[in-house]
Amino acid sequence: MKCEICKKEVKNFKGLTSHIYKSHKISSEEYYLQFIGKKKSCEICGNKTKFISIEFGYRDACSLKCGSLLGAKRNRESILNLSIERKQQRSQNISEKYYSKSDHDKNEILNKRKQTNKRKFGEEFASQSDEIRSKISKNKINLTNEQKESIQKL
Ligand SMILES: [Zn+2]
Ligand SMILES: [Zn+2]
Repeated sequence: MKCEICKKEVKNFKGLTSHIYKSHKISSEEYYLQFIGKKKSCEICGNKTKFISIEFGYRDACSLKCGSLLGAKRNRESILNLSIERKQQRSQNISEKYYSKSDHDKNEILNKRKQTNKRKFGEEFASQSDEIRSKISKNKINLTNEQKESIQKL
């Protein structure tokens, strides 16, 4: 890595810290603020937090108390995130079940439709056969009329 002020190569953050202090007479915090990052305020109470190092920047919490609160908060959040993930997984499972169920329902509906179709066709066939029967009977009547006529002609 390089010193951003004089572009001199330094080995690591430690080297950089001692270099800027020796060569540029500025603290690592000043260097950090100028070239790397910003100040942080405590995530719990909003107070300013302490500077750790060029590598790590500022603390997330202002005090030990806030630090432990923040730790607990983050744990809760991670648990919350976990539970959200689990909920999402559960709802996914539910939706998968729902879809499979709806597929089952679809099959049932299809079967029912087939059955009703069969019944319908049966009815249609029955009604057709009724028509045919009546036609036949009409023909019979016609025939018989003709027969009657023929009989009468005779
Ligand atoms: Zn330098
Ligand atoms: Zn705080």
